[in-house]
Amino acid sequence: MIRIISFFSILFLILNMACSSVETEDDQFYDLVIINARIVDGSGQPPFTGYVAINNGEIARVGKGSPEGQIEGETLNAENRILSPGFIDLHAHGNPLETPEFNNFLAMGVTSITLGQDGGSPGINEIAGLKNTFESSGLGPNLLMFYGHGTLRDESGIGRDRQFTASQQQTMDSLMRVAMTHTFGLSLGLEYSPGLYSDIDELSHLAEITGEYDRLIMSHMRNEDDDSLRVSINEMLELGNYCRIHISHLKSVYGKGVERAEEILSWLHEANDAGIQVTADEYPYTASYTGIAILFPDWAKSQDQFEVVKSTRRKELEEFLYDKVMSRNGPAATLIGTGEYAGMTLEEAAGQEDMSFVNLLIDKIGPQGASGAYFVMDEALQARLLQDSLVAVCSDGSPTGYHPRGHGTFARIIEEYVVKRNVLQLPEAIYKMTGFPARILGLEDRGLIREGMKADLILFNEKFVHENAEFSNPLQQAEGFEFVMVNGKWARYANQYTDSLSGKYIVPQNIR
Ligand SMILES: [Zn+2]
Repeated sequence: MIRIISFFSILFLILNMACSSVETEDDQFYDLVIINARIVDGSGQPPFTGYVAINNGEIARVGKGSPEGQIEGETLNAENRILSPGFIDLHAHGNPLETPEFNNFLAMGVTSITLGQDGGSPGINEIAGLKNTFESSGLGPNLLMFYGHGTLRDESGIGRDRQFTASQQQTMDSLMRVAMTHTFGLSLGLEYSPGLYSDIDELSHLAEITGEYDRLIMSHMRNEDDDSLRVSINEMLELGNYCRIHISHLKSVYGKGVERAEEILSWLHEANDAGIQVTADEYPYTASYTGIAILFPDWAKSQDQFEVVKSTRRKELEEFLYDKVMSRNGPAATLIGTGEYAGMTLEEAAGQEDMSFVNLLIDKIGPQGASGAYFVMDEALQARLLQDSLVAVCSDGSPTGYHPRGHGTFARIIEEYVVKRNVLQLPEAIYKMTGFPARILGLEDRGLIREGMKADLILFNEKFVHENAEFSNPLQQAEGFEFVMVNGKWARYANQYTDSLSGKYIVPQNIR
């Protein structure tokens, strides 16, 4: 049934596109017409100069050159700026109740964000209420949710157990089915607790349910270290037998070089050729950012486990931490982002306390005591991944995270990878941030400039786009995205926020 629906929606799209070349009646009234724009429509096609007319929050007309006939209503002269769909962030973080305006994202041209990532989301009842909450109070960008697998385990009473009872299984199934009608799919965080306690049988079962609803599995994989990548990716591909799967923030921790990137990509393409629908995204930095628990072993990631291990297995823990940090380019490559040592590398903080970095981690910080940036990736490898047709862009950032990706990602793609280094062509880069993520998510009415699509649009001159965030000063907003429209209303107009809060909480359309 679901397949038939999506077939018809594709047919509808094609019919829609065919109609756009047919002249409709002249003398039409529109809410707004943007003229003299270089239109990059989100499909990857080259730019063309033209106009876009907007009515009732939707794109009502798209044309080349100047509009024919009398156009009534307000006009905005784009003065040859790029007009593209607003960017869709496949992997973001933040609390929409605390910062519903999400200005850090709007300033980067982002008009839709995706939360509930890495296996952690609000509980199912809270998610079910979000539509109502934001219908009245509004949001800066649109918001899409995933249901976290870790949250599912907690809500099913399984938590960190490896085995579970038939009745827990039943609870899990029914929560899962409710979640699939309210969200775009299930997010995994297999490198984190409690996701790391799950096995392939549990995940396959959940993937089967996800597939029944034609939803997506969005995954922070089990291990991103170079020597574990093959196994981690294979686990994802196995789930791809049941549903569409997406690898979040694809990276190789301490892998190097273009050839290695091509090897990793070949696994994805082989699977794709065999009919598995796998895609990935990436943020354009060589440092990751997450809780410092990432350095701790599975048996000491949570505070309660850690307290016990500190006295019973200290020697073993010391050795593990030493090896782990050294394999991740050493203590100078970890930049602490929160808590007492924020802004210092692990090496600097240890120096200040006059203790080894291992003892600092155990006696002063602990697995839950800080977040940090980890300089563990290779630019050549990551840039090659970014060029691949299966790889989209995400920020993995938040309004408050101590990593420039939360304020810089989408500006950096344009500034650094398109304008300065020519790693990507502009239409290709925009496709990776608009049409492609929309397709990955199954978002049928956004991500392209086409008649009938929602009017999420941005206007910018690619030469003036600039990332201001740095590792030493990460919370600086990007500049250059002068006009940002969300659902037909300006969220930013001539670089000023309007506080229109016209973003919507989006539920998937194909609810059974
Ligand atoms: Zn993640």
